[in-house]
Amino acid sequence: MLMVMLEVYELLKNPFETLKIADELRKKVVGDVVTYVVNRNINFTDICINDCKFCSFRNKRQYILSFEEIKKKVEEAVEFGCTEVCIQGGLLPNANVDLYVSILEAVREVSKRIHIHAFSPMEIYHAARNSKMSVDEVLKIFKKEGLDSIPGTAAEILVDDVRMKTCPKKLKTNEWVQIVKTAHKLGIPTTATMMYGHVESWKDRIEHILLIKKIQQETKGFTEFIPLPFMWRNNELGEKFKGSSGFEDLLVIAISRILLYPEIKNIQASWVKLGVKLAQAALYTGANDLGGTLMEENISKAAGATSGEKLTPEEIKEIIVRAGRIPKQRDTLYNLLT
Ligand code: SF4
Repeated sequence: MLMVMLEVYELLKNPFETLKIADELRKKVVGDVVTYVVNRNINFTDICINDCKFCSFRNKRQYILSFEEIKKKVEEAVEFGCTEVCIQGGLLPNANVDLYVSILEAVREVSKRIHIHAFSPMEIYHAARNSKMSVDEVLKIFKKEGLDSIPGTAAEILVDDVRMKTCPKKLKTNEWVQIVKTAHKLGIPTTATMMYGHVESWKDRIEHILLIKKIQQETKGFTEFIPLPFMWRNNELGEKFKGSSGFEDLLVIAISRILLYPEIKNIQASWVKLGVKLAQAALYTGANDLGGTLMEENISKAAGATSGEKLTPEEIKEIIVRAGRIPKQRDTLYNLLT
């Protein structure tokens, strides 16, 4: 670990060279294809018992979608041509396994085929503790009821000192790791994320990325890595920290590509968080995926994101073409569809 840290510090001293190395690795691993997924976000509630200091979404409108409303959103997603619904929400005080299963059932009543990418490790932890069941048991039930993959959110920075300052009530690093590994063992793939640009140091970021690499070496269950810059508006952490600069965002993408080589092939540039133009630039610093069309986005918008909350497939394709790359639609698991 120490050696890698020192190597990364060397890379950070030569940032332009680092961006170039990352771009070369991207080309070697995935060529000039840039992927995107046609999907819909569904945030079924903003009510939450946690109080993460970076959260601008929690308890703002105090809404809970009915199962009928969820079904309507899935119907619209199917009509739009979505291959995936991404479902996450706040932590309702009494949310147990039955609640999450009812959400899966509501989706499956509308579509047997749509890929259900749902429930963060924090939500899975919450369901398990409220139902007095093990994570293994909960995940087996969710899988049987139609869960296809899990968003690797709630990772924030996987260093407990940082978590104590930013999200003290959230699951700890080791709990996140165990849930993700259990999912992978059960054949449920996940993404991996990192939310950076607040109290953490480069050392914390490197530790986080190396932990993701280590899990991937063991399980091969991550589909992609998604660096997410901290959005600072309307939350407590934002009173002290104003997030990363655009150049730092590009460097984080580049360091992620370099450190995760060759274990993780896909590095996503989130257009919602970065903005479309910076996401295009990130395609030259290690990223090879632009994420989803989303149809709606509530979490970044609440924290001040101004890039919009939906793109049509035509718009996302045009963004990729104008960046000089080859657009390809993918499914959640990175199978190419076009
Ligand atoms: S980030 Fe998630 S768990 Fe934390 S307060 Fe917001 S909604 Fe709740």
